[in-house]
Amino acid sequence: MPSALDQLAFDNTYSQLPEAFYQLVFPTPLQDPYLAAFSPEAAALIDLDPSEAQRPEFVNRICGALPWPSTWPLAQVYAGHQFGNYAPQLGDGRAILMGEACGEKSHVWNRYRGLTARKWDLHLKGAGRTAFSRQFDGRAVLRSCLREFLASEAMEALGIPTSRALAVVGSATPVFREKPEPGAMLLRMAPSHVRFGTFEYFYFQKRYPELKELADFTLHQYFPDQAEAEAPYAALFQEVVARTAELIAHWQAFGFTHGVMNTDNFSILGFTLDYGPFGFLDAFDPGHVSNHSDPGGLYAFGRQPEVGFFNLQCLLRALSPLLRQPEAEAALAEYEPALAGAYLGLMADKLGFLKRHSEDEQLIEQLLALLPGADYTCFFRRLSNEPWEGRVIDASFLEGIVPDPKAFAPWLEAYRHRLSAEAVDPARRRQHMNRVNPKFVLRNYLAQEGIDAALQGDLGPTERLRRVLLRPFDEQPENERYAAPPPEWGRHLMISCSS
Ligand code: AMP
Ligand code: MG
Repeated sequence: MPSALDQLAFDNTYSQLPEAFYQLVFPTPLQDPYLAAFSPEAAALIDLDPSEAQRPEFVNRICGALPWPSTWPLAQVYAGHQFGNYAPQLGDGRAILMGEACGEKSHVWNRYRGLTARKWDLHLKGAGRTAFSRQFDGRAVLRSCLREFLASEAMEALGIPTSRALAVVGSATPVFREKPEPGAMLLRMAPSHVRFGTFEYFYFQKRYPELKELADFTLHQYFPDQAEAEAPYAALFQEVVARTAELIAHWQAFGFTHGVMNTDNFSILGFTLDYGPFGFLDAFDPGHVSNHSDPGGLYAFGRQPEVGFFNLQCLLRALSPLLRQPEAEAALAEYEPALAGAYLGLMADKLGFLKRHSEDEQLIEQLLALLPGADYTCFFRRLSNEPWEGRVIDASFLEGIVPDPKAFAPWLEAYRHRLSAEAVDPARRRQHMNRVNPKFVLRNYLAQEGIDAALQGDLGPTERLRRVLLRPFDEQPENERYAAPPPEWGRHLMISCSS
């Protein structure tokens, strides 16, 4: 039976770790809270009654004005490599782990590698100052909470591992960024908020017993198979390598730029965490930088695979007191081939190749060399829907999608030749391709339209967009406009780190 938030069963496993792992702290409420967004799909994962969205108690509870029963809210400590430099003391400066929901249902959470989450962290972002706030205000603004909310829904629907978002609460509390903005809170859900940076914190402080305790906690909670292995910590690291490779392969294939790939934003379970100045590609550009505060392009779209490697090196160093060096390095060496293999597989799917051929890699490379300037999402969707079979090649179907359709003619000819080797029914090919070539992604300009309306008090556009993004692979002819490349005003929106 679905139940209200205050009737959920909660576990407090993190609070049972030593005190050095967190600060016990309550949220600081916002003024005049109202529900700005809600995901019934996320609610179902914890058996939460969707009609909660209508109850004032729910809103008051997720803006910190009402206590939660039988939980020990806490802010987790961590450190991290930020833009290549080590920051020894970070932690939840504006988020509080309110409780770990552990309903009867246990969900297979990560579709790639079969992680079964037995609990969901309910994590309140924008909840006020904690011991880890440094000079900051502990708050989040409505704009960034709605962006994270929409991204969580969109990524899940695309099949990319991600934290989830249950709800956003808006308020009348002003929060100062470049200008005053309404403060908000986002209730995030994830099986764990342990980050690469959590391990780094204990390693660099030379607190090896706590480091071991964190690794044991992680193994016990999430990696029962690895916990049974002969060398459990090496097995844990190997699994994190595999998950991270898989994750970043998906980011690259779907055109997602995270924006702030610091190790404190990297989940030990390999899902997308801490949405800030992220972006989906409109025009394909390996040098695309989604974060206004990253002028050097360290975290540019095309650099994400190597940053993933750097972050794993950081994690390996943090785990080094628990590992034998040769086995750890062997595990790390699996990252590149795993990522390349997963990426190649996804791209082959996007091109409709049901079987793998030796020339596929070359064909994909040639395409990537042609793609800069093309609308990434529209290009693949058009390619899916074009009836190739038995036709003379004509690049005009790319009009409006790529800068110069004629430049694609030789590649399209090679592609058609390659497709003919598949000998599959065109309808089947299209169906196969449309399962990996979304029609709808969370383009920045679409998010901005929803945010602008929400700031004027109209939450309808955000909810409509959310519903479109829940079915990214469906045609949805009535929602055609959400599939369009950005209009001029939406092409170069600056997304800053200040959220
Ligand atoms: P982020 O860039 O959001 O991943 O945050 C990096 C670190 O800064 C984390 O430790 C955050 O908790 C902290 N932080 C970011 N914004 C704020 C804020 N407004 N108040 C307090 N801490 C913050
Ligand atoms: Mg962060």
